[in-house]
Amino acid sequence: MERVDVAVIGAGIVGLSAAWRLARTGLDVVVLERFSLGHDRGSSHGPTRIFRFAYDDPVYVRLAQAALPLWRELEDASGRPLLRITGGFDVGDPMYLRACAAALRSCGATAEELTPGARRERFPWFESDDQSIFSPNTGVIAANDALAATAEVARAAGARIDEEVQSARVDVRGADRIEIVAGKREVSARRCVVAAGAWAATVLEPLGIRLPIRVTREQVFYFRVPHEIVPFIHRDRIARYGIPGDWGAPGVKVAEHGTGSQTEPDARSFDVEEPGFARVQGYVQTTLPTFDPSPIASETCLYSTTPDEGFVIDRVGPVVVASACSGHGFKFGPLVGELVASIVTGGEPAVPIKPFALRRFV
Ligand SMILES: Cc1cc2nc3c(=O)[nH]c(=O)nc-3n(C[C@H](O)[C@H](O)[C@H](O)COP(=O)(O)OP(=O)(O)OC[C@H]3O[C@@H](n4cnc5c(N)ncnc54)[C@H](O)[C@@H]3O)c2cc1C
Repeated sequence: MERVDVAVIGAGIVGLSAAWRLARTGLDVVVLERFSLGHDRGSSHGPTRIFRFAYDDPVYVRLAQAALPLWRELEDASGRPLLRITGGFDVGDPMYLRACAAALRSCGATAEELTPGARRERFPWFESDDQSIFSPNTGVIAANDALAATAEVARAAGARIDEEVQSARVDVRGADRIEIVAGKREVSARRCVVAAGAWAATVLEPLGIRLPIRVTREQVFYFRVPHEIVPFIHRDRIARYGIPGDWGAPGVKVAEHGTGSQTEPDARSFDVEEPGFARVQGYVQTTLPTFDPSPIASETCLYSTTPDEGFVIDRVGPVVVASACSGHGFKFGPLVGELVASIVTGGEPAVPIKPFALRRFV
């Protein structure tokens, strides 16, 4: 039986970030990942993700504000550029925009109202009569690079990351002891961080811990665009977003948020769903008329969404649950890792963690 301080299940952005921040404190950390690093079956793959302060809830504005310096720390520690701040806009649903502007201002961040006319002057490639707000703190994360960088710094800090190792059973043996069986391996740890993304509910269920997540298979498309854009989120009946073709992306990403079909993570399809594709293409033709409407590439990815679309970062005995998805968790990765580390070490968290308690769903 191997003995470690902390075993982390899952090497997506959440598990790797937790391993980095935990190993930095001097703890002996092992990460178990059932596939290979950077695989395309979970939630963290792909070249880009949006970074933004712009949320309608001050809790998440403050979370993004606290995440930004940790992204810069990750860039310094890994020697890789990972986040380009470009500014970006939210457009559509007036109630959301009002709440978003209020939340940003209440946290000391800037929100600039843009009428359709003012937006057309600045971003003539975006055709809509909807109101918008511009946030200068929005940007583009190099997601694939960030995953690799986090693995590097976690290893440099002393964490072991074991690929192709699937935890098959987790048993709580006491307040400070938990055993993980993974193939022929048995690992005994003081704490186990479950950062298993779309699989987390399945890992936790035998422990009597119910994580209410709905797993869906989402799809994104990349388009050829003859000019620069900034990230945008269009909150209409369907929410859609666009991300510049930075960081090695084959083109500008355009996708719907959270309209994918519910699925089992091990039985999901990787094929494009035609009705969803037709909707995205129609949107590009009407709203983004300078884009070539024939996509160059597509990707599928899993969302695990909680009932309030918020995160769960909490401890139940020796188990730490780290579920930060609902389609918007990447930008908080290093901070979620830091919060997990503070839960494990008993340190003061960088931001209050009560909003992420699991018991809010009970
Ligand atoms: C299409 C799409 C677009 C997105 N856009 C944005 C965006 O613009 N901005 C943003 O901030 N966020 C965005 N997100 C959300 C963000 O990508 C996720 O919140 C984040 O990647 C979740 O990471 P994770 O580590 O929790 O999950 P994952 O990356 O899925 O990692 C979980 C890992 O656990 C492993 N695992 C599971 N079970 C076991 C087991 N039993 N044993 C060992 N290993 C196991 C899995 O193989 C997997 O590697 C998007 C997500 C998707 C899908």
